[in-house]
Amino acid sequence: MKIQRKPEWLRKKVPQGEQAAMRGLLSELKLNTVCQQALCPNISECFGCGQATFLILGRDCTRQCSFCNVDKAPSPQAPDADEPRRLAEAVLRLKLSHVVITSPTRDDLVDGGAAHYAATVAAVRELSPATAIELLVPDFGGDHICLATVLAAQPAILAHNLETVPRLYEVRKGADYQRSLDLLQQAALGAPSIPTKSGIMLGLGEELDEVRATMQDLRKVGCSYLSLGQYLAPSKRHQPVVAYIPPQQFDQLRDEALALGFRHVESGPYVRSSYHAADYQ
Ligand code: SF4
Ligand code: SF4
Repeated sequence: MKIQRKPEWLRKKVPQGEQAAMRGLLSELKLNTVCQQALCPNISECFGCGQATFLILGRDCTRQCSFCNVDKAPSPQAPDADEPRRLAEAVLRLKLSHVVITSPTRDDLVDGGAAHYAATVAAVRELSPATAIELLVPDFGGDHICLATVLAAQPAILAHNLETVPRLYEVRKGADYQRSLDLLQQAALGAPSIPTKSGIMLGLGEELDEVRATMQDLRKVGCSYLSLGQYLAPSKRHQPVVAYIPPQQFDQLRDEALALGFRHVESGPYVRSSYHAADYQ
């Protein structure tokens, strides 16, 4: 397949200077971020203003999504029991009003890492009780007890990304569209005071009507918040970009999503599920 040249609206420069302080803190506290692992194009902007999405439970994922740059391993390292404390220290030192915490999928762990998520929320809350904590969780293999463990920690937002439309789920090895919808529905029913959030990447070959149907599916399971962003291939080894979606198309989809009843929608070429995360509440 011919690799498309990036359009003008996606040629963002990534200056390195403003990232130094954040990189130093992450290195000192031995913390991982999705920002670095996923080669996020917003890293300069986010690190420059002290924002990051923390990646707990190690850097290795047990799944093999073809679009994702997170490292893959069938048997990643055991959870680091001290990680919640270090992450809480980072949140305190960065004075974050909102923090996003996620992880690779840990199908190797009996609880999928749910207890580690809960421990991390507790540690952050102890040092920074006013900080809003958003958890972006894996599907836990559809295990409702794992989800209940995470919800019992009372995050401010429970997020789980659909990533793409059901027809293209082959790019999410080991995932299942309906299982992801079920997780969001279980969260909305089990903890109605915790809003749910999801994200879809565009540019993988989906049709516009498929995106609309996916947004409707999300509303049917009570999802409150939505992010829509452009998929960018981390390297030539990853799933290729099929289309670069123009900014006007993102604007139109945001309007349609709001008309469907989403309470807040971020939609644009550079939007990631954690981009401008504090604006959702
Ligand atoms: Fe990190 Fe999210 Fe910002 Fe990207 S958009 S740099 S993943 S906080
Ligand atoms: Fe990446 Fe998540 Fe897929 Fe793992 S499950 S490869 S972290 S997108």
